[in-house]
Amino acid sequence: MTDIERHNYDVVVVGAGGAGLRAAIEARQQGMRTAIICKSLFGKAHTVMAEGGAAAAMGNVNSRDNWQVHFRDTMRGGKFLNHWRMAELHAREAPERIWELETYGALFDRTKDGKISQRNFGGHEYPRLAHVGDRTGLELIRTLQQKIVSLQQDDQREHGDAEAYLRVFHEVTITALPKDGDRIAGAFGYARDDGRFMLFEAPAVVLATGGIGKSFQVTSNSWEYTGDGHALALRAGGTLVNMEFVQFHPTGMVWPPSVKGILVTESVRGDGGVLTNSEGKRFMFDYIPDVFRDKYATTEEEADRWYADADNNRRPPELLPRDEVARAINSEVKAGRGSPHGGVYLDVSKRLPADEIRRRLPSMYHQFKELADVDITAEPMEVGPTCHYVMGGVEVEPDTAAAVGVAGLFAAGEVAGGMHGSNRLGGNSLSDLLVFGRRAGAGAAAYVAGLEGRPSVVPDDVDVAVEFALTPLSREGGENPYKVQTDLQQTMHELVGIIRKAPEIQQALDKLTELRERSEVVSAAGGRTYNPGWHVALDLRNLLVVAECVAKAALLREESRGGHTRDDFPEMSAEWRQRNLVCALTKEGSGVTVREQPLPTMPVELLGLFERKELAKYLTEEELSVLASEPD
Ligand code: FAD
Repeated sequence: MTDIERHNYDVVVVGAGGAGLRAAIEARQQGMRTAIICKSLFGKAHTVMAEGGAAAAMGNVNSRDNWQVHFRDTMRGGKFLNHWRMAELHAREAPERIWELETYGALFDRTKDGKISQRNFGGHEYPRLAHVGDRTGLELIRTLQQKIVSLQQDDQREHGDAEAYLRVFHEVTITALPKDGDRIAGAFGYARDDGRFMLFEAPAVVLATGGIGKSFQVTSNSWEYTGDGHALALRAGGTLVNMEFVQFHPTGMVWPPSVKGILVTESVRGDGGVLTNSEGKRFMFDYIPDVFRDKYATTEEEADRWYADADNNRRPPELLPRDEVARAINSEVKAGRGSPHGGVYLDVSKRLPADEIRRRLPSMYHQFKELADVDITAEPMEVGPTCHYVMGGVEVEPDTAAAVGVAGLFAAGEVAGGMHGSNRLGGNSLSDLLVFGRRAGAGAAAYVAGLEGRPSVVPDDVDVAVEFALTPLSREGGENPYKVQTDLQQTMHELVGIIRKAPEIQQALDKLTELRERSEVVSAAGGRTYNPGWHVALDLRNLLVVAECVAKAALLREESRGGHTRDDFPEMSAEWRQRNLVCALTKEGSGVTVREQPLPTMPVELLGLFERKELAKYLTEEELSVLASEPD
């Protein structure tokens, strides 16, 4: 019989990025014995890589900013497919979550009068991103970890045990969520260092596992983003929404090949960087879509004036939402106007003095100098789209972050769906994970407090999880897991990437069926001690199920919106806006079903925050008739 290390908690948080840490702090503060589990080292999460900042309408740089403007921008960015309640909670609560971080010890950049400084970003009407140079995520994680240590110090004083109420298990990968009937009963996984199995018995699990970037070939995401939380939720009986919406960030590095996909922060454009093609043309003026036409400058002169006088000029089109800029770059490269390595040029050197660039964008300066031998204070960067973020995720109840259909399961941060609709605005993820991380921790604590009896793990479920984990090690001569992973990434990149069409998506689905068969016969050489080949073998089923969700939903949605562009259906459709696509596992658990579900209806008072002529771009005649009495 296999040895299993057992632990018992009230709340288990899977993931130690911003969402997981904020959830754990909340659960612990509400008296719950809480475990934080993460696949990589503590402190190594996407949150730490976040560069530009966290969006919150504090109004420090432009006093006209407020939650209503932030809500409007978020809905526009998501092309009105966002869950209105999530967007509302996010816009209302983000400022408080940022100020709260200061009480934990965060040191943001300041304005001249000593307030938290805020910078411009695509799609945000006013400067809104609280930041620390271009290393905001590092400060966010440092602060949250510091808060955790301080809570542990309290526990040391009070209980003589620093880990009595809050313990971190790092380099542990969760592979299954055992249930007791309909309820979550815990989390099962393995330690990456020696491969020992671990069972965490707990009535509530918060998923905070981040994104799915590793299902695509070119990505800003690192190795651990294999859609684990998305897949765990599906296997536990939960559902995923909006999976067809994948954000390709417009600016990733394109050269040298070893660093292709690494992010070039949007702050470069926020701080004045311009995009040009091989003919030297500032091409974004040719790509302003009708829905945004009245908000963006149509001449270079006006765009340039905006940097000095934002109140009396319209924004430069380089600051359009990410989906628009990514598609524009893609079109320029396809039209043969790309840079030598298949991107376009991004130049901030003509806008700001060298010292200022080094001060405001220190990571970008070093990244290009060290990885590409390019001095961004003197020459342009070469950039192109990179898979960056998934808008789709676990379907949750907005106020509590409870996963729909699975008692005891919660989800927050990038793994949750709905908040960003079809496209996330830059900076809205860091604020999202603080707002909903806190809500998930509170939701889980309230759920546990209200339980009459605790669920028990069924031993058979653990046996199945153990057998699944051990099979690739005992199989000889099977498929190479790395080869299957690479083929999957290439399939998604080529056939379900930025621009999609039905025959290609269908081709991808056929390939995914083949890949699934190959994944079922992978073998991993070696033992259980630090064996990355084995880890990849175990990740494959997650990557595959998530890829199937993306492809199936992409095939069904016959319109183009945000992070989903159909070459064969290039227009946005008001009828499609009324529908969410919801993925679940088939009854046998071997595949994915996708069904349509009505989008939650936004209350009239929130619709009233928009001008009717803007709503007419998104809503059906029937929806607009509800607003018939509203002024134009
Ligand atoms: P993450 O921070 O991604 O953390 C996920 C955690 O889950 C990790 O600890 C991981 O180890 C763990 N995990 C995953 N699977 C398992 C498993 N099976 N078992 C155990 N643990 C698991 N957003 C902004 O708003 N502003 C920015 O400026 C910005 N810049 C970015 C720059 C880069 C380079 C990248 C990649 C992203 C950026 N983003 C930015 C997006 C943002 O950083 C992420 O969306 C956000 O940090 C996700 O946070 P999270 O807490 O949901 O998950």
